[in-house]
Amino acid sequence: MARIGLREFTALARVMADGRLLRYGKGARGQTERFEHDFAARMGVDHVLTVNSGTSALIAALAAAGVGPGDEVLVPAYTWVSTAIAPLAVGAVPVLVNIDESLTIDPAAIEAAITPWTKAILPVHMLNLPCDMDAIMGIAKAHDLVVVEDACQAIGVTYKGRRLGSIGDLGAMSFNHHKNMTAGEGGAVLTSDDRLHVRAQMYHDPGNFIRGLKATEEPVFSAMNLRVSELTGAMLNAQLPRLDPLMRRLRKRHGLMAQAFDGARGCRVSPHNDPDNAVGLSVIFDRAEDAQAFGGIAGAERLLDTDRHVFRNWEAVLSRRSFHPKMDPYAWANREIAHRVEDYARTLDILARTCRVALGAQYPLPVMQLRRRALRRALDQRAPTRKDTKTEAMA
Ligand SMILES: *Cc1c(COP(=O)(O)O)cnc(C)c1O
Repeated sequence: MARIGLREFTALARVMADGRLLRYGKGARGQTERFEHDFAARMGVDHVLTVNSGTSALIAALAAAGVGPGDEVLVPAYTWVSTAIAPLAVGAVPVLVNIDESLTIDPAAIEAAITPWTKAILPVHMLNLPCDMDAIMGIAKAHDLVVVEDACQAIGVTYKGRRLGSIGDLGAMSFNHHKNMTAGEGGAVLTSDDRLHVRAQMYHDPGNFIRGLKATEEPVFSAMNLRVSELTGAMLNAQLPRLDPLMRRLRKRHGLMAQAFDGARGCRVSPHNDPDNAVGLSVIFDRAEDAQAFGGIAGAERLLDTDRHVFRNWEAVLSRRSFHPKMDPYAWANREIAHRVEDYARTLDILARTCRVALGAQYPLPVMQLRRRALRRALDQRAPTRKDTKTEAMA
């Protein structure tokens, strides 16, 4: 979670003193425009469009890419529900895909889920953990699919030297209260493709034809209002300098906290798709009971118990219900799309055996050393498992 302090207070006060809160027509004083420029440079993309939420960013990205009725979008079965809802919002259907032990979408399962109607992949970097982007981009290229990275939970994180959200055709970020950067609410669409950027801009403002858009060949289409005000822009400008220091603190604490699991029985640190740059930590147990018990300790949380991120709790998606019976993307799909819980037993098994370990970026290192010791003590004090007893009896 991001810090908020005096910097944000003065940034907001300045905008309020100026009195004009609309993002347009401010020239060099435009806070939102400045943020988009600086954030694009920091993330290594050509364009950033600030929008009012991460959900909006995902929807605008899909709309920009021309994803719509009849299209299938591959979404991991472990993510915040917005990732699965975004395809529905543009008239496409989400096709759920199992995760692997890295807690991100399994590239082999992506291959197995591709049909002639698959249009896009929405890999999600959960808990600051990167997806296997090399494999995903390879699959996308081979099958001519659009990749929209959901980097809502991984702002600032790098994968093999590149920022998450800058690798796919488009990236989506969230600035809600829980994320690495916050404006209370907010989001961003990242891309280095000029046309995708123009289309995202068009989609995000019904008034795009009177302002904002540079000369473009792209025919104008009807749009939503996903705009932000200058208050959001000012908050994000104040937050940006905090991002890389946060990454450094997380990396330092990752090294420290991972040691808690060295040589521990019945568990190991989860595989990571770029271990040298890890800023997120989770641990996978052999047995679900052990993960459940460990998840009750301060600073650890079992992922199956974070109900809202587990597909089987996405009632609106599983029931395939929308606000109007005829607004039914499933009826427009080219085949029957069922979300059967039993097809995702593997995801549930991994989530039942995995705990996230908080890295405590906001705490001093000595506090985290104490916490590491407490976690290790809890691991060592566990009753021996049946397997251990047998091994000991044999020894
Ligand atoms: C937070 C989040 C979103 C949605 O962001 P909002 O700003 O809350 O709309 C989407 N996907 C993931 C993985 C998230 O964590």
